[in-house]
Amino acid sequence: MDDCIFCKIAAHQIPSTVVYEDDKVIAFDDLAPQAPVHTLVIPKDHYANIIDGVPADVLAAMVNAVSEVARAKGLDDGFRVIANTGEVAGQTVHHFHMHVLGGKPLGENLV
Ligand code: C5P
Repeated sequence: MDDCIFCKIAAHQIPSTVVYEDDKVIAFDDLAPQAPVHTLVIPKDHYANIIDGVPADVLAAMVNAVSEVARAKGLDDGFRVIANTGEVAGQTVHHFHMHVLGGKPLGENLV
């Protein structure tokens, strides 16, 4: 999509700090981190959110990228994965992404 900032990041038209990349997905550090580790995993193709018909192979590549991020960032003790879906959940960028958060105790509350 022409006006999608994450499509531009995926295409390297906008610089980002890349943590992992393959043919289907890219992971990069969030510009406004909410934890010591806050990395976003996105598909290179545009899907609005996790239920926007994302193919199984792309979902598998996303999960693999999450594990690559965890390994690269040393999140051996655990981490949290969040996919805000729709504005009611706080989704602000409407290109499917998973937040990988860690590097400190995250607490029990999700909301
Ligand atoms: O789930 P949500 O849509 O709210 O998350 C979008 C995330 O994308 C935010 O954490 C924001 O900081 C991040 N972002 C970014 N680089 C941009 C635009 C947004 O890391 N250029």
